[in-house]
Amino acid sequence: MSAAGGSGGGRTAPRRSLDMQAMYLQGVGPARAEALRRLGIFTVRDLLMHVPHRYEDASTISPVNRLRVGDDATIFGRVISKGVIPTRKGLRVFQAVVKDPGGMIECAWPGQPFLDRSINVGDALLLAGSVRFFHGRQFAPRETINLGADDDATAEGRVLAVYPATEGLSFKQVRHLVHRHLDDWLPLVTEYLPEWMLRDTGIPPLPEALRMVHRPATLDDARRGRGRLAFEELLFVQVLHIRARALSRTARVGIRFENRRDLTSKLKAALPFELTAAQVRATREIVRDMTSGERMHRLLQGDVGSGKTVVALFACLLAMENGYAAAMMAPTELLAEQHADTMTRLLAPLGIVPVLVTGSLGAKARRAAATHIAGAEPVLAVGTHALVQEGVKFARLGLAVVDEQHRFGVEQRLALGKKGERPDVLLMSATPIPRSLALTVYGDLDVSILDELPPGRQPVTTVRRQEKSRAKVYDFLDAQVAKGRQAYLVFPIIEESDKVALKAATKAFEELRAGRFAHRRMELLHGRLSSDEKDDVMRRFRAGGVDLLVSTTVIEVGIDVPNATVMVIEHPERFGLSQIHQLRGRVGRGAEESFCILLGDMSPESEERLGVVVHTNDGFKVAEADLRLRGMGDLFGQRQHGEATFRVANPLRDVELNEAAREAAIRLLGSDPDLSSKANHGIRQVLKRRYDRAMELFQTG
Ligand code: ADP
Ligand code: MG
Repeated sequence: MSAAGGSGGGRTAPRRSLDMQAMYLQGVGPARAEALRRLGIFTVRDLLMHVPHRYEDASTISPVNRLRVGDDATIFGRVISKGVIPTRKGLRVFQAVVKDPGGMIECAWPGQPFLDRSINVGDALLLAGSVRFFHGRQFAPRETINLGADDDATAEGRVLAVYPATEGLSFKQVRHLVHRHLDDWLPLVTEYLPEWMLRDTGIPPLPEALRMVHRPATLDDARRGRGRLAFEELLFVQVLHIRARALSRTARVGIRFENRRDLTSKLKAALPFELTAAQVRATREIVRDMTSGERMHRLLQGDVGSGKTVVALFACLLAMENGYAAAMMAPTELLAEQHADTMTRLLAPLGIVPVLVTGSLGAKARRAAATHIAGAEPVLAVGTHALVQEGVKFARLGLAVVDEQHRFGVEQRLALGKKGERPDVLLMSATPIPRSLALTVYGDLDVSILDELPPGRQPVTTVRRQEKSRAKVYDFLDAQVAKGRQAYLVFPIIEESDKVALKAATKAFEELRAGRFAHRRMELLHGRLSSDEKDDVMRRFRAGGVDLLVSTTVIEVGIDVPNATVMVIEHPERFGLSQIHQLRGRVGRGAEESFCILLGDMSPESEERLGVVVHTNDGFKVAEADLRLRGMGDLFGQRQHGEATFRVANPLRDVELNEAAREAAIRLLGSDPDLSSKANHGIRQVLKRRYDRAMELFQTG
């Protein structure tokens, strides 16, 4: 649809719909549209739903003349002077004097001299931080928001909404954009929850709630508006959960495998290592599911390197010794190949050779694989989504395993299960979330957890280094390479369309290759490369033909290069904690000590946040901290496809709302189990739009 006006006569106005692309809005050009996409904003509806993550008002802002050393406070004032000051230790400090109606205070940003370029005399600043003693009182901002010179710079009588922003689109621009279009589009927003629900819970209707979050008269307004949006998220997750449980009770008849202890015992005897206690436990849980008459629907969660593949292999062999085929699907060719390699090795004593099925097989190899799979002999097929393509027909598929399950859309995940007569399903994920939360998020899935790493694994030593230490960090990298090790240098390009960031990574790569690391073998890996090119670079890295891999966040989640011992992460403050944890899981896979270096200057707040990954190697702890700090949205990075996750709600904090949502969901489904009544049409629509799983649970096709 186009907002540029009707065609032909040019008279008919375009149909106004909340599904209109945000790029057609006034004030949004191509660059801004791209920045908006980075924030997950594609349509006008998304823009309206982009809610502030925080608010400030006169009650939360402290007059500067009342600040005492040791206070933690938010202040609001105008810059009256500024400059960059070198310290004895070689650290450069940006300083500014900020004045509000009652007084002034010196503010200092150590290690952030670049702020001198963006903060000018006359700008209004909103600062959160602490007051310390340094030749008198000095304010050390944790967070800096520049409202610019045209702001009236008084906190009196207004609530300031602070929006999540991104590079190329400041918080202020986001706010301006939302406010510019709010009145225009709000009339199109309609309430879709039943009246009784609003009455019982006391939450405001949707249009009202959106007005409250974007333009609150008081902080309490903002809280109530946010509460409504959090409530609906929690409600939907409960609805999906309850429905999935109900369906699984009735329609879960599956294959009853027999525990013959034939192939599985042979594998156990042939393994070059002892299983960890966690692996034994998870394997038992899976065997219990598979030998029951119910269809298995289990999620195997385990930190990177916890050894999920072997557990899956036992499940595959259990299916095979019962005369069934097993299939394991991985998100990339490289991962599929790696699995095939590992399995070929582990299964050699058993005389079983897995069949590899990927898109890049030649026609002949593909035919051979297809014939093999269709044959009567039970096979183990390992591949990419090529496994679910039409030509692939299993004689008897008994088990479908999906590795790195969050990287597949729900259709793809389901498609593999449809390749057989109700095969058992095992999903695997390296993004650990606490068990209590897994129940909320995954609902009907049973969960097994590998909370233990194989013995002898060295924890990755994670450190922060400031910009001034860059040369030393490079020396360290070089020394590791001189010892025969390999290293990753990671840049934060989360979204492939992020041209600015890609340019930065490319530039850094070229400079290093021509300069500091001219004597080393370097390659650049990013999302713009075709998957063949990516796989080619990774294969060479894995084979040891590349010393230093400069990469965006595309490096494969499950890739196993034991010789890689260092990872340097640039702009670590732009990553979620769980993402950093996933990334550093690429190193520490061999016997050598491994390092993850978080490089660059950052705000004290970011330093504090990143402290979590510096101090713990436990993925569950990291995930929990991430959840507390930033909510669900960031946990899975960008790859999450329409999962039941939270943008506004935080189930660890919104305990009461969650309880209310659960009660409402029970009552809702109690009277209309498949949401087929006309009154609940709106709820169905929203469910379908937001959650992939709604499709299978409510047939909202
Ligand atoms: P992930 O859970 O991240 O998928 P993998 O299954 O790839 O982990 O296992 C990582 C590495 O650990 C592999 O090289 C695997 O062979 C090895 N491994 C798995 N289980 C054990 C164990 N119990 N003892 C020693 N090494 C193990
Ligand atoms: Mg894996």
